[in-house]
Amino acid sequence: MKFNQKFPNAEIDFEPKDLLIFKSANVYPCEVCKEKTSWVSMSFETHVCSEECLDALWKEYNVMNKPLFCECCGKSIAELRKEIEEDGIPRFEGSKQLKCGKHYLTERGDVESTSIYMDYCSDCGSKLEYEDYKLIYESHPWGSTTATETLIGGYRCHACGFETEV
Ligand SMILES: [Zn+2]
Ligand SMILES: [Zn+2]
Ligand SMILES: [Zn+2]
Repeated sequence: MKFNQKFPNAEIDFEPKDLLIFKSANVYPCEVCKEKTSWVSMSFETHVCSEECLDALWKEYNVMNKPLFCECCGKSIAELRKEIEEDGIPRFEGSKQLKCGKHYLTERGDVESTSIYMDYCSDCGSKLEYEDYKLIYESHPWGSTTATETLIGGYRCHACGFETEV
Protein backbone atom coordinates (compact mmCIF):
# COMPACT_ATOMS: atom_id res chain seq x y z
CA MET A 1 0.00 0.00 0.00
CA LYS A 2 1.22 3.51 -0.82
CA PHE A 3 2.25 5.46 2.25
CA ASN A 4 0.17 8.38 0.96
CA GLN A 5 -2.93 6.18 1.10
CA LYS A 6 -2.00 4.64 4.42
CA PHE A 7 -1.29 8.01 6.07
CA PRO A 8 -3.39 10.48 4.04
CA ASN A 9 -3.29 13.30 6.56
CA ALA A 10 0.33 13.00 7.61
CA GLU A 11 2.20 16.23 8.21
CA ILE A 12 5.82 16.90 7.29
CA ASP A 13 8.20 15.00 9.63
CA PHE A 14 5.48 12.57 10.63
CA GLU A 15 6.97 9.18 11.59
CA PRO A 16 4.57 6.26 11.61
CA LYS A 17 5.34 3.75 14.34
CA ASP A 18 7.74 0.84 13.57
CA LEU A 19 8.18 1.53 9.84
CA LEU A 20 11.33 3.67 10.09
CA ILE A 21 10.02 6.13 7.54
CA PHE A 22 9.05 9.79 7.71
CA LYS A 23 7.32 12.30 5.49
CA SER A 24 9.85 14.80 4.15
CA ALA A 25 9.31 18.24 2.67
CA ASN A 26 10.91 17.14 -0.61
CA VAL A 27 9.38 15.09 -3.39
CA TYR A 28 11.72 12.69 -5.18
CA PRO A 29 11.27 9.52 -7.27
CA CYS A 30 10.89 6.34 -5.23
CA GLU A 31 14.14 4.33 -5.14
CA VAL A 32 12.32 1.23 -6.40
CA CYS A 33 9.48 2.20 -8.76
CA LYS A 34 10.51 5.82 -9.54
CA GLU A 35 7.08 7.21 -8.68
CA LYS A 36 7.36 10.59 -6.98
CA THR A 37 6.94 10.51 -3.22
CA SER A 38 7.72 12.56 -0.14
CA TRP A 39 8.24 9.51 2.10
CA VAL A 40 11.80 8.70 3.14
CA SER A 41 13.19 5.46 4.57
CA MET A 42 15.45 6.17 7.55
CA SER A 43 17.20 2.81 7.22
CA PHE A 44 18.18 3.35 3.59
CA GLU A 45 18.21 7.18 3.53
CA THR A 46 16.29 7.23 0.29
CA HIS A 47 12.78 8.04 -0.95
CA VAL A 48 10.36 5.14 -0.99
CA CYS A 49 6.64 5.33 -1.82
CA SER A 50 4.95 2.21 -0.47
CA GLU A 51 5.12 -0.84 1.82
CA GLU A 52 5.85 -3.02 -1.21
CA CYS A 53 8.75 -0.85 -2.33
CA LEU A 54 10.17 -0.77 1.21
CA ASP A 55 9.92 -4.59 1.35
CA ALA A 56 11.78 -4.80 -1.94
CA LEU A 57 14.63 -2.71 -0.49
CA TRP A 58 14.88 -4.99 2.57
CA LYS A 59 14.86 -8.12 0.41
CA GLU A 60 17.68 -6.80 -1.72
CA TYR A 61 19.58 -5.78 1.39
CA ASN A 62 19.16 -9.21 2.98
CA VAL A 63 20.35 -11.03 -0.13
CA MET A 64 23.43 -8.81 -0.37
CA ASN A 65 24.25 -9.31 3.29
CA LYS A 66 23.86 -13.07 3.45
CA PRO A 67 27.05 -14.63 4.78
CA LEU A 68 28.89 -16.84 2.27
CA PHE A 69 31.32 -18.39 4.74
CA CYS A 70 30.96 -19.49 8.34
CA GLU A 71 32.66 -17.12 10.78
CA CYS A 72 33.73 -19.93 13.13
CA CYS A 73 35.50 -22.20 10.65
CA GLY A 74 35.68 -20.46 7.27
CA LYS A 75 33.76 -23.22 5.47
CA SER A 76 31.33 -22.21 2.76
CA ILE A 77 27.74 -21.84 4.00
CA ALA A 78 26.46 -23.79 0.97
CA GLU A 79 28.72 -26.73 1.84
CA LEU A 80 27.72 -26.64 5.50
CA ARG A 81 24.05 -26.55 4.52
CA LYS A 82 24.51 -29.68 2.39
CA GLU A 83 26.35 -31.41 5.20
CA ILE A 84 23.58 -30.62 7.69
CA GLU A 85 20.84 -31.67 5.28
CA GLU A 86 22.57 -35.01 4.68
CA ASP A 87 23.91 -35.90 8.13
CA GLY A 88 22.05 -33.54 10.47
CA ILE A 89 20.18 -34.66 13.56
CA PRO A 90 17.51 -32.63 15.42
CA ARG A 91 19.07 -30.05 17.74
CA PHE A 92 16.98 -31.39 20.59
CA GLU A 93 14.06 -33.76 20.78
CA GLY A 94 11.16 -32.61 18.64
CA SER A 95 13.16 -29.73 17.19
CA LYS A 96 12.76 -28.90 13.52
CA GLN A 97 16.25 -27.47 13.49
CA LEU A 98 18.92 -29.88 12.31
CA LYS A 99 22.47 -29.77 13.55
CA CYS A 100 25.75 -31.26 12.50
CA GLY A 101 28.67 -30.62 14.84
CA LYS A 102 28.52 -27.01 15.96
CA HIS A 103 26.50 -25.86 12.94
CA TYR A 104 22.75 -25.90 12.65
CA LEU A 105 20.04 -24.87 10.24
CA THR A 106 17.38 -22.41 11.42
CA GLU A 107 13.73 -22.45 10.32
CA ARG A 108 14.55 -19.60 7.97
CA GLY A 109 17.16 -21.75 6.26
CA ASP A 110 20.16 -19.88 7.64
CA VAL A 111 23.22 -21.81 8.73
CA GLU A 112 24.28 -20.73 12.20
CA SER A 113 27.10 -21.79 14.45
CA THR A 114 26.96 -22.42 18.18
CA SER A 115 30.53 -21.19 18.43
CA ILE A 116 30.87 -17.60 19.62
CA TYR A 117 34.23 -17.11 17.93
CA MET A 118 34.55 -15.02 14.79
CA ASP A 119 37.77 -16.27 13.23
CA TYR A 120 36.90 -16.03 9.55
CA CYS A 121 35.41 -13.41 7.23
CA SER A 122 31.81 -14.28 6.34
CA ASP A 123 32.22 -12.68 2.92
CA CYS A 124 35.42 -14.25 1.56
CA GLY A 125 36.35 -16.97 4.08
CA SER A 126 39.80 -15.53 4.90
CA LYS A 127 41.22 -16.09 8.36
CA LEU A 128 40.92 -12.81 10.19
CA GLU A 129 44.01 -11.12 11.55
CA TYR A 130 44.30 -9.40 14.88
CA GLU A 131 44.21 -5.95 13.25
CA ASP A 132 40.90 -6.80 11.58
CA TYR A 133 38.97 -6.91 14.82
CA LYS A 134 37.06 -3.94 16.07
CA LEU A 135 37.75 -3.95 19.76
CA ILE A 136 35.54 -2.42 22.36
CA TYR A 137 37.00 -1.53 25.71
CA GLU A 138 34.66 -1.70 28.61
CA SER A 139 35.47 -0.52 32.06
CA HIS A 140 34.03 -2.24 35.06
CA PRO A 141 34.31 -1.21 38.67
CA TRP A 142 36.75 -3.58 40.39
CA GLY A 143 37.05 -2.98 44.09
CA SER A 144 38.33 0.56 44.44
CA THR A 145 39.62 0.77 40.86
CA THR A 146 38.23 -0.11 37.45
CA ALA A 147 39.21 -3.07 35.32
CA THR A 148 39.17 -2.84 31.57
CA GLU A 149 37.85 -5.71 29.57
CA THR A 150 38.44 -6.07 25.85
CA LEU A 151 35.53 -7.30 23.80
CA ILE A 152 35.43 -8.10 20.11
CA GLY A 153 32.58 -6.14 18.57
CA GLY A 154 33.01 -6.92 14.91
CA TYR A 155 35.63 -6.92 12.19
CA ARG A 156 36.81 -5.40 8.97
CA CYS A 157 38.36 -8.02 6.72
CA HIS A 158 41.89 -7.21 5.49
CA ALA A 159 41.41 -9.41 2.42
CA CYS A 160 38.13 -8.14 0.96
CA GLY A 161 37.24 -5.06 3.02
CA PHE A 162 34.01 -6.58 4.29
CA GLU A 163 32.90 -4.90 7.48
CA THR A 164 30.48 -5.92 10.22
CA GLU A 165 28.56 -3.58 12.43
CA VAL A 166 29.56 -3.19 16.02
ZN1 LIG B 1 7.81 2.89 -5.07
ZN1 LIG C 1 31.68 -22.82 11.33
ZN1 LIG D 1 36.91 -10.98 3.62
